Amino acid sequence: MSFLKKIIGGNCPNCGKTKLFYDKGNIFLFRLPKMKNTCSECHYNFHRETGFYFGAMYVSYALTVAQMVAVMVIGLLFNISVLNMFIAITIIAFLLFTFNYRISRIIWLNIFYQKE
Ligand SMILES: [Zn+2]
Repeated sequence: MSFLKKIIGGNCPNCGKTKLFYDKGNIFLFRLPKMKNTCSECHYNFHRETGFYFGAMYVSYALTVAQMVAVMVIGLLFNISVLNMFIAITIIAFLLFTFNYRISRIIWLNIFYQKE
């Protein structure tokens, strides 16, 4: 299974059969996505060590900046005022928070995946 396919699917990096998250979360209910501790098929431990997912913050930061730049470029193309761009960027960052949370953890786990 390819690296990109694992990330897009959000599946176990070891077997690729089960999802990493059992709850996608909901930003409007202030509910974070919930991650499984181990894979139910191959028993791969998703929580490798204490603080392992602190590094996922950097991935999340990079994703958020990329999304903000994309919104800003679109705003510049359509000649939107700076205030409206700021509001659009804030709304996009708020709406994509749970998506960034999940995808950054999936990317981080797949970067440091080692076959057991
Ligand atoms: Zn697995």
